[in-house]
Amino acid sequence: MSNKQKSLLLVSMPYAETSIPSIQLGLIESYLKQREVNVSTRHLYLKAADFYGLNNYNFLINSPNDSYTSQMVFSKYVFPDHWEKNQDKFRYFYENIMCYNKDFNFKFKNYVEQTDKFLDWTINNIDWDKHDIIGFTLNYGQFLPSLAVAKKIKEKNPVKQIIFGGSTIINELGQKVLSIFDYVDFIVSGEGEEALFLLTTSFEDYKKIPGIISREQNKTVWNKNDSCIDMNSLPYPNFQSYFKELSNVSTDIQQYYQLYGRLPIELSRGCWWNNCTFCNVGAYNKKYREKNYDLFAEELRFLSDTYKMLDFQVIGTTLPQKDYDNLCEKIIKLNRDFTLITESKAAILKSKDYAMLRKAGFSHIQTGIETFSTNYIKKMNKGAKVIDNIAAIKFCKENHIKNSYNLIINYPNEEKIDFEETEKTVQLFWKYLEPPSISKYVLGYQSHIYNNLSEYNIKNIEPKASDMIMYPKELLEKEFYFFYSFKRKNETTQNPWKKLVSSWKKTYEEQKMLAVNRDIDFEKLVFYFKDGGNFIKIYDKRYNDNAMIYMLDRDERTVFLACCDVASKIDIKYKAKHIDSSKLDEILNSFVEAGIVYNEKEWYLSLPINYYQYYNNEGNKKVYDIDIEEIRAYINNM
Ligand code: SF4
Repeated sequence: MSNKQKSLLLVSMPYAETSIPSIQLGLIESYLKQREVNVSTRHLYLKAADFYGLNNYNFLINSPNDSYTSQMVFSKYVFPDHWEKNQDKFRYFYENIMCYNKDFNFKFKNYVEQTDKFLDWTINNIDWDKHDIIGFTLNYGQFLPSLAVAKKIKEKNPVKQIIFGGSTIINELGQKVLSIFDYVDFIVSGEGEEALFLLTTSFEDYKKIPGIISREQNKTVWNKNDSCIDMNSLPYPNFQSYFKELSNVSTDIQQYYQLYGRLPIELSRGCWWNNCTFCNVGAYNKKYREKNYDLFAEELRFLSDTYKMLDFQVIGTTLPQKDYDNLCEKIIKLNRDFTLITESKAAILKSKDYAMLRKAGFSHIQTGIETFSTNYIKKMNKGAKVIDNIAAIKFCKENHIKNSYNLIINYPNEEKIDFEETEKTVQLFWKYLEPPSISKYVLGYQSHIYNNLSEYNIKNIEPKASDMIMYPKELLEKEFYFFYSFKRKNETTQNPWKKLVSSWKKTYEEQKMLAVNRDIDFEKLVFYFKDGGNFIKIYDKRYNDNAMIYMLDRDERTVFLACCDVASKIDIKYKAKHIDSSKLDEILNSFVEAGIVYNEKEWYLSLPINYYQYYNNEGNKKVYDIDIEEIRAYINNM
C-alpha cells in the first residue's frame, strides 16, 4: 500500500431506515477493501434511533411523515441563527404537521434534546482524527444531519477532507452545495466506487478524477463522468459494520431487526423504461444495467450463508424487462425459504410470472401503479395501461403476494376526469383487491416535467413548505434541492382523493373482518371463479350481501379463460376461433356489462380471482436433501 494513500471513513446518517443496512456503504466498503484501501463505515442512523427510541424514530420517518422532513431539527446546528429566529415555526411545524397524531408523546423538546445528545455522542465517540477523508452518503433526509457533523469535524480539525455523494446532490446540485457550504470539500456526482478509490490513492490529482466536483479558488470544477461501473465486476457487499453497530444499540432495535430486518441485494441500476414524466431516476442513473442472474443467485447464497439471513430487498427501480422466469429458477434452485421484496412495473408480468415470483420467495412487490384513470396515465407516460394495473393487483392477490402501491395525486395538470375515471373503475374491485396509499406529487429535479414546466401547467417552481422552514431565505433562492413545490398557470379543481381511498380502505377492511368471522370463500375471495372443465361458475359478492352466481357455458368459458391475462380482441378471437364473430362480441359485451371483464379499448381482462390459483399456489415447495458432506463428516468422526 502506498504511503500517500489516504484513509477513508464513510458514514450514513439518520434518517435512514434501521431495518436495512445501507447498500451504498456495504458496496463501497467492499470494493475499496478489495483494492486494499484503508476504509471503514458507520451506520449512525442506528445510534440515532437508539437516542430517540425506536417507536419515535419510526414515527418520524414513516408515512405520513418522512425522513426528508424529519431532518429539520438539524437546522439548529447548520444554521444556528436561523434556528434561533424561527424556533416557533419549527415547533409549529413539528407539533401540527408532523405530529398529526396528538396522542404521540415525543414532544418537540424531546426531539431537540435527543438530537443534541445524538450529535454530541457522534462528535465525541468516533475517532474522526484517524481518518483523512470523511465521506457522507446522502439519501433522503440525510443532508442536514451530514452537514451538521461535517461542520463540527471541520471546526475541530480543518485538515480533514469532507466528501458528499448520493442521488440528491448530483450534477449542478452538487456544484451548488459545494459553493454554499465551504466545509464540504468534494462531491461525487454519480457512482462512488471508482471516484473514491482514486481519491484515496491519488489524492493530489483530484481535479482529474471522473465524477468529482471540487473547488478552485471561488469556482467549482466538475469533472463530468459518463462511464458506468460494470455491476458484474463488483464484489459482494460487506455488512459487518452494520451488524457491529446493531450489537451496540438497544435490544428493542436488535429485536426489531430480527423481526423486520432484511439485507439489500442489487439486481440493477437505472430503469430500462426511464420515461415516466414524474420520475428522475435517469438524472442520477443514466444507463440501465442488470447483474448477471447467475452472479445474483451466487451473491444471494453468499449473503444468506454469511449473515444467516433469508429476508432480502432486491434493489433496482423495477424488475428486469425480460427473463425473470430464468432469474426465479436460479433463486428456486437455492432451495431456501426466502422472503424477497422488490419493485416492479405493471404491463410486463403475466399471471404465470407472478406464480413463479411467489415460488421464488417474492412475497412483497411494490408495483408502480400510480392511477386507474386512462386520461391520467397518459400524462404520466407509464408505458402501461389501466388494465395492466388492475391485472397486477389481481395476480398479486391470486398468488398471495403483498402489493404496496400508490395513487399519485396533485399532478400540475390534474383534471376532474382523472378522478372520475379512477372512482368509477376502482368500485369494480375495491371489496377484494388491496387498496393503495396516496402519494402527493412533488416535482423532481431533472424529471421530464421539471424540464418542460409549461407543458404541464406549471408557472414557476418554489421550495417545498418544509424547505422554507429548514433553510434560511437567502439559501432557498439558490435552488439546490432535489424536490420542489410549484405554482400552476391555471388553477385546477381539488379532487377528493383522500375520501376515495379511505372509502376503499374501509370497504376492504370491513370485508376482511367478515372473512375472519366467517371463514368461507364468499367472504375471503368475494369475486372468484371455479372451473368445471366445460363450464365455469363465477361467485360474485361485490355488491350485495347475497352472492350472485354466474354459470358460463362451454363457449362463454372459452372466452372468459382467454381474458385471464390481459388479452387483445385478436388474441381472444384466435383462442375462440370456433365461435363466430358476432357471438363472441355478444359474449364479451355481456361480460363487460356485468363487470366480469374489464375492457379498455381493444383489451380485455377478467376480474374474478382464480380459485384454483389462490388455493393451489405451490409456494416454496422444496425437497429436504440430506447434506452428503455432513454424512461423510459424521462417518469419519465415528
Ligand atoms: S417510475 Fe419506475 S418505471 Fe417509471 S421511469 Fe421511474 S423507475 Fe422507471
